[in-house]
Parts: sequence; C-alpha cells; structure tokens
Amino acid sequence: MGKATGFMEYARAENPYRDERARLLDFDDLHTAQPAEARRCQASRCMNCGVPFCQSDFGCPLHNLIPEWNDLLYQGQEKAALERLLMTAPFPEFTGRVCPALCEKACNLADEGVTNRDNELYLIEKGFETGWIRPRVPALRTGKRVAVVGSGPAGLAAADLLNRMGHAVDVVEKADRPGGLLMYGIPNMKLPKEVVERRVRLMEAEGVSFLLNTEADPALLTAYDAVVLCGGTRKPRGLSAARADVKGVHFAVEYLTEATKSLLSGKAPAVTAYQKHVVVVGGGDTGNDCVGTALRQQCASVTQLEMLPAAPTLRAPGNPWPQWPRTLRVDYGQAEAAALQGADPRVYETTAQAIAVDEKNEIVSLTAVRVAKDAEGRLSPVPGTERTLPCGLLLIAAGFIGCEDATLSRFSLRADARGRLLPADGSHYLGGNLFSAGDMRTGQSLVVRALADGHAAAKEIDSYLRGKDA
Ligand SMILES: Cc1cc2nc3c(=O)[nH]c(=O)nc-3n(C[C@H](O)[C@H](O)[C@H](O)COP(=O)(O)OP(=O)(O)OC[C@H]3O[C@@H](n4cnc5c(N)ncnc54)[C@H](O)[C@@H]3O)c2cc1C
Ligand code: SF4
Repeated sequence: MGKATGFMEYARAENPYRDERARLLDFDDLHTAQPAEARRCQASRCMNCGVPFCQSDFGCPLHNLIPEWNDLLYQGQEKAALERLLMTAPFPEFTGRVCPALCEKACNLADEGVTNRDNELYLIEKGFETGWIRPRVPALRTGKRVAVVGSGPAGLAAADLLNRMGHAVDVVEKADRPGGLLMYGIPNMKLPKEVVERRVRLMEAEGVSFLLNTEADPALLTAYDAVVLCGGTRKPRGLSAARADVKGVHFAVEYLTEATKSLLSGKAPAVTAYQKHVVVVGGGDTGNDCVGTALRQQCASVTQLEMLPAAPTLRAPGNPWPQWPRTLRVDYGQAEAAALQGADPRVYETTAQAIAVDEKNEIVSLTAVRVAKDAEGRLSPVPGTERTLPCGLLLIAAGFIGCEDATLSRFSLRADARGRLLPADGSHYLGGNLFSAGDMRTGQSLVVRALADGHAAAKEIDSYLRGKDA
C-alpha cells in the first residue's frame, strides 16, 4: 500500500486552479501541475483498501487498478505505475483533465478522497515527456478490416483496442478534425486541443487511419468486415421560447465549436459573445462551459437560467456515499463569473418564456419567468414573475435527445424511445456486421463511460470477427 499513515499526515490537495481573473485572459489550461514530490505525497494517501470502492461500479467505469498504481507512484516507480494505469485506461491524458472522478467520490476516504485524477494525469504526462509512450504497432495483423464511425472518446477507444488486437481500423469522421466532443465541445481551457492531436498522431503511427470530412455511408457495411457506429448523442433539446431562425440564438455545442475553431485557426469566430449580454439556458456542465467561453470572449454580462432548484449543499438522505454526491457545485465558469460580476451567474427555478427581436430579426432581450410545480407536478411558469433581461446572444444548453436522424435513416435504423441505439439484449450488436457504442448507445454520458463502452464494443467485435473464422 501507499504509506500506512499517509492519509493522516497529508491533506488532500488537488492541482490548483489559476487565478480567475488571470485565466480569463486566455483559453489556456485552467490548472497548474504540482511537482513530483507533491504527487508522491498524494499517492501515499491511498490505503490499498480491502474493498477498494474507487474500483467498484460506483467508482471508475474503466475499473482502473487505482491502489496498485498509487502505490507504485508513491514508491517512485513511475514507469511501472504508468504501465499499470495503461492496462485499463486508454487515454489518461483526457480523463486526467476532464473526468469528474467518480472514483474520488467513491473513495473510502469520502470527501477527502485520494486525488486519483491528478495522479493519473501526472503519470501520463511524465510518460509523454520522457518518451516512455511510444507507438505500439501490433506484431501480427488478422487481415480483418473495421470501420469506426465517429472519433469521439468511444470511437477512439474502440479504434485503439481493435488496432492493438491486430485488425486494420479506419475511423470515419464527418468533422474536419478528429476528437468528437473532445475537440469540438469541451473547451480548450479544460482540454487543450494539442493533447487530442498528440493522441491522434500516436494512433496514426500505430496504424489507425482517420478519414476526415467523411459522412458514414451504408457502403461501409460491404467494404469492411465490421462497422461500429460511435456517432454520439448530437441532437440538442430545443427551447420553445426561441425560433431557430432568429439571429443570436445558438445551441451550446455549435457555439463552443465555433470558439475552438477560431482559437485553432486564429480567425475571428462566426459567433461571438464579445460585448454582448449573454443568457445561457441550462444550468449544467455544458452551460458552465458556455459561461466560461463567453467570459473569455469579453461578453458584457452572462446569466445562466436553470429550471430546477439549487442542489443541497450536503448530501440528501437518499444520496449516500459511495454514490456520486448530487450537491451544489461551483464550476470554473461560475467561479469566474462570480469574480468578475460579483455573483454566481445561475438563476434557479427560472426559464426563458419569450424573446424579442429587432427589425433585422436579431435577438435583443429575453423574458425570464420563475417556474413552480403545478397541480400535476409539472414545472409551469408562475404568473407575475416575468422579468426582461437584455440579451444579444442566447445559448441553449438544455441537453441532448438522441442520435442524429441522418445517420439513422442512412443505415435504416430506429432509435429507442430515448433516442439511443441500444440493443434490447444490452449488447453492442445491431445485426449483420453492425455495432454501436458510446453516447449513441447509452445516451448522454461522460468521457470515461464512452471510453469504457468503446472498449466493450471492441471486445464484442473481436469475438464476432474471430467467430466468423471458426
Ligand atoms: C460541452 C460539453 C462538455 C462536456 N464536458 C465533459 C467533461 O468535462 N467531462 C466528461 O466526462 N464529459 C463531458 N461531456 C460529455 C462527453 O463529452 C461525451 O459523453 C462524450 O464525448 C461522448 O463520446 P462519444 O464518442 O460517444 O461521442 P462524441 O464525442 O459526440 O463523438 C461523436 C463523433 O461522431 C461523429 N459523427 C456523428 N455522426 C457521424 C456520421 N454519420 N459520419 C461520420 N461521423 C459522424 C461526430 O462528428 C463526432 O465527432 C461534455 C459534453 C459536452 C456537450
Ligand atoms: S478507495 Fe481510496 S484509499 Fe481505498 S484503495 Fe481506492 S483510492 Fe485508495
């Protein structure tokens, strides 16, 4: 185990955030890294529990061998620790930056959980720095060809494992850059894009091909031995108050994509929050990313509307450890807004009721209204609580309702009632030589779950391909 008394000697210490006002001046990484000695102290806090809840179903979906690599990190055996980590984790440089770290909340140290996410980030970055991470080209090829549709975390994880199993893998991606929401969605300050590009270059060196600007087509089914659809859950939930043709009304991912494209190309973004009053509808993580991005684009103000009441500050009785705590969190964008505007930008139990436009059909203001449960238990507007907010940019971050219709109709597939391609038997097999994985199969989720699902699909595809030869 780490150090028998480590968790008593050292307090939990995460990689610190940069100062709010300083980090608002750029789109660079939010955090600063800690030195090796601090990492060893943090790893020493791990108790190598008899029942390690960090690895349980409440914890890491990849079932990372957390106590083992924490111990090796504490002992200073960083290369061995990294090898242990890579046994289960395909891309620790992604999860080490954006994972909500279910393992830390499920840790037996509860609120003082071991900083597993920062520890894994340290190990993988050390691996890249020292050259321990090198292309792993498979020694033998099976002669089978697999097409992976979509290059988000699920597609990348499936492609990576199938390639290591010896199959020839082409990733088919309709966007101009690979990465899915890792590239166009999650902002640069949470996940710098050179980190995504570095992994893609490594996969290319290992033999995976990326066909960009390419829409998946059913012809893939005859050209390849197997095809796996990892197209994500990309259909956003709309807002009845806002017509789609109004200028200045955008879905969150559309806006965040433009912001990243502009950062990478150095050209002005097609949509910007610059000097505008911004209203974000949706109080979740995607809404928070919009808040952080709008502030960096120097918006005049930002307000975030959330239909639900604020979460409790302490765990509710029905939400005990080791479950994920459904408590009030102040994310980076909300902390930045508070530093700049003097208060948290979230307004709870409130929604957008109507918008007003000018003669050029551009949004100028929004009517917000409080909501409360009606006699049937539905959230309804409370008359008399309307107020007008100036609004030059309305961002809709109200969640996703399923996979895109174009892919479904092209492959003659029907999604379930929740918009997912989830086979009734719980597998990844859709029939013929077609499979599904990631958010497209499970619905809106997390990077780490998409990675785990991509791996699970790769294993099923491998069995299918081997079964064909038997
Ligand atoms: C703004 C935002 C921020 C988020 N932040 C976090 C976070 O901090 N931490 C976290 O854990 N999770 C986060 N998530 C959730 C996480 O990003 C997703 O759960 C994850 O990316 C899903 O992975 P995926 O591979 O299934 O799909 P996606 O990442 O959506 O990738 C799907 C890919 O398929 C491509 N595609 C779709 N259809 C076709 C087609 N017909 N032909 C070719 N290509 C196609 C798309 O262009 C896309 O590149 C965030 C989500 C959003 C929207
Ligand atoms: S539950 Fe926490 S302390 Fe126990 S093994 Fe896992 S990370 Fe270490």
